[in-house]
Amino acid sequence: MPATYSSAAQAVHLLRVLIVEDDPIQLALLKAMLLDSGVRLVAEAVDGQGGLDRLADGRFDLVITDLRMDGMDGVEFLSRALALHGGAFAFSSAVEPDVLASAESIAHLQGASLIGALGKPLQIGELQALLRRAAAACAPSGQPERQRPAQAWPLSALATALEWRQFFPVYQPKLDLNNGEVTGVEVLARWRHPTAGLIAPAQFIATMEQTELIDVLFRQLLRQALADLASWEAQGQQLSLAINIAPRTLEDRSLPERLVQQVREAGIAPERISFELTETAISRHPATVLESVTRLRLRGFQVAVDDFGVGYSSLALLSALPFSELKIDRSFIAGMPLNGKVMPILESIMRLAKELGLRTVAEGIETGAERDFLRALGCEAGQGFLFGKPMNGPCLAAWLASRRA
Ligand code: C2E
Ligand code: MG
Ligand code: MG
Repeated sequence: MPATYSSAAQAVHLLRVLIVEDDPIQLALLKAMLLDSGVRLVAEAVDGQGGLDRLADGRFDLVITDLRMDGMDGVEFLSRALALHGGAFAFSSAVEPDVLASAESIAHLQGASLIGALGKPLQIGELQALLRRAAAACAPSGQPERQRPAQAWPLSALATALEWRQFFPVYQPKLDLNNGEVTGVEVLARWRHPTAGLIAPAQFIATMEQTELIDVLFRQLLRQALADLASWEAQGQQLSLAINIAPRTLEDRSLPERLVQQVREAGIAPERISFELTETAISRHPATVLESVTRLRLRGFQVAVDDFGVGYSSLALLSALPFSELKIDRSFIAGMPLNGKVMPILESIMRLAKELGLRTVAEGIETGAERDFLRALGCEAGQGFLFGKPMNGPCLAAWLASRRA
């Protein structure tokens, strides 16, 4: 269990919860259960517009909404609310499973940080499990306090932050789904802002990618990550490292050779380093990607297609590029195996990966059922909150040590 779990569980009483519900009895019941569970701040709205007004006025960590409401239904409310609140949502309606699954997919695709569902009649155990998940989603230790929708930080602020070394890597464990062993970590960027707190990549990566700032970030994170990798190795844990790379960083023709030197100096074989490129980036910059991916592979590095399944890369392009790994986007994983519509898609992704000789990694595994299902489908590796959230270096070292013990 990640070290953050117990501290997160204690934070349930700090959650700020908004209920949007047009049925007064259901509203009163849910409110009473929340207060009984230790939540101190519960706000309410009786329709979607009221919910939007509350969100515009204040900050909430969790929004529990009815899906069936007169006027604005829950899905319209959700879409509009996500522009104001990028955090956790839960649905409290008794609706058909495929309608619920679609609402959950909409929330995922629009960037909600957590999605849950409560059955009717309400069960206190189910509600408390949801509260623990919401508390964990805004837990400390490298986890952003709240995933607000992308806010454009000006380039000058980002440049200063890089200069002042305010960005740091957090690491999310990657496991072999067959034997449960930790095989590596993915490096994810975080910004420790002096007044705004911990800031998630959604709020700075896209802006940085427009300029060379993204190259500076990549260099800073990789340097720190290689040092951490060497220190975990000294403690007896050999791990691989995956790091996200932007297409413009790949444009530098001297990059592959510099990377070889850098990993050599750190005493790490290139085979243990994987660069993750999103499917969208690949389809937008095929020429740059083809050249640089080939040159990285020639030097022994691994290259992965990230967020696979939500972009528009053609199969011809994929088969022409020498990737080593396919990371299945987490929007396909959420809610499985109950979401029957996703199953044939996943099966064909697995088949495709096998035919192209690619290792498969599933992102965003949150439940044991999702893990078991993916393993049965033949998926080799996985990442997700079920195994471990992104953690800073010292937390990851402690987490690894506790697993060994
Ligand atoms: P990604 O590379 O696909 O990383 C996975 C994201 O999913 C991470 O979000 C991670 O915290 C989140 N995640 C992992 N497991 C779960 C789960 O079980 N449930 C849920 N709900 N979420 C999970 P994060 O850290 O906010 O990063 C978002 C994206 O920002 C990354 O997606 C990556 O594309 C980009 N990014 C992050 N760091 C960097 C970086 O240093 N450079 C570049 N170019 N992009 C970066
Ligand atoms: Mg990635
Ligand atoms: Mg991804």
